[in-house]
Amino acid sequence: MALTFLANGRSYRAPERPVLAVCADGWDPDYVDDALERRLMPRLAEALTAGGTYELARAQVPTFTNPNNVAIVTGVSATYNGVAGNHYLDGSGGEVQVTDPSFLRATTIHAAAVQAGVPALCVTAKDKLRRLLASGGVPAFSAELAHEQSLEDGTAITDVVGRPNPGIYDWELSIYTIDLALALADRLQARLVYASLTDFVQHSAAPGETLADDFYRAADAALGRALDAGFTVGLVADHGMNAKAGPDGRPNVRYLDEALAEAGITGGQTLCPITDPYVAHHAALGSLAWVHLDDLGQRDRARAALAALPGVEGVLDRAAAATAFDLPGDRIGDLIVLADAHTVLGRSREAHDLSALHGTLRSHGGLHERTVPLIICAPIPAEALSGRELHNRDLHDILLNVVTA
Ligand SMILES: [Zn+2]
Repeated sequence: MALTFLANGRSYRAPERPVLAVCADGWDPDYVDDALERRLMPRLAEALTAGGTYELARAQVPTFTNPNNVAIVTGVSATYNGVAGNHYLDGSGGEVQVTDPSFLRATTIHAAAVQAGVPALCVTAKDKLRRLLASGGVPAFSAELAHEQSLEDGTAITDVVGRPNPGIYDWELSIYTIDLALALADRLQARLVYASLTDFVQHSAAPGETLADDFYRAADAALGRALDAGFTVGLVADHGMNAKAGPDGRPNVRYLDEALAEAGITGGQTLCPITDPYVAHHAALGSLAWVHLDDLGQRDRARAALAALPGVEGVLDRAAAATAFDLPGDRIGDLIVLADAHTVLGRSREAHDLSALHGTLRSHGGLHERTVPLIICAPIPAEALSGRELHNRDLHDILLNVVTA
């Protein structure tokens, strides 16, 4: 009988062949469709022709990187894993970056695998995810800070992959991440490998632009190296990506603290849960924001003021949002503001450095970046996924429990 292990109430089969699960950061389906149509990804096309699967799945809302990576590695929604943003307002009213494993309310599938004796490994492009992924004793490394990391025997990580790591704003960092994952998996004999990429390219270039084309050609070659090394490869995105600029090319922003002040509402605080160290990607501007209120008696007036802003298409209170989007009610705002596809939400003009942006703003966070590709580069039974509403957090279930090859 095959070895199985339990994580958050679900049973997973230990893989007989090594498995590589990729979180393809910001891979809106438009990029994948365009790359396949223009034959930029021959290895992926070949895997799909040979019985692989390309489905559309739903991401966790808010469609930011940390909540979706955590949903993918735990296999459960934010209601159960506790991670609802990249940033969070703690009990004392201060903002905290969600990087500490103590935020997790669920185990990771990789930690459960390690405990069951299945060697697992996590490699992330962005170092901000490394400590979350290392939770439960999982070996975890980042491409961003690979030059500072080494194996237990002292070997430098960059020596394992055989080339120096690119910078955080270098388009090749995601490619390096895949190669680092493959090299470390070989070295550590890992059988369950997670590689989380970065969305610098997707924040910077639309489908069909030269940077995107170069990236998808290189990503295809890297996935091909994983297939050639004998991995069962599956891929899902954490969120999509949309242009968020007006006709003048400037970011299309609504500043919520300013709107609250204009409406005479005091004691309101907007929190942008996209906030992270990578400001050139998005200047902390995404299409969903929390608003915290000192006085809940002002909630209905605040909701009306925010809902009246052009480009705002929904304002939910805490309880409604927790139910609608599978969120932990204690880690979101009193109000949840949703923008349309081409609008982003900020705090105030002073709070966002638009000069840090790399080109025209492209970003994510709302409902319009909720549809993501889910790709399995291995044959699966035709009926296995039929009638099932797929989420990106199902990636490991499909790779470990459904793939038959
Ligand atoms: Zn992301």
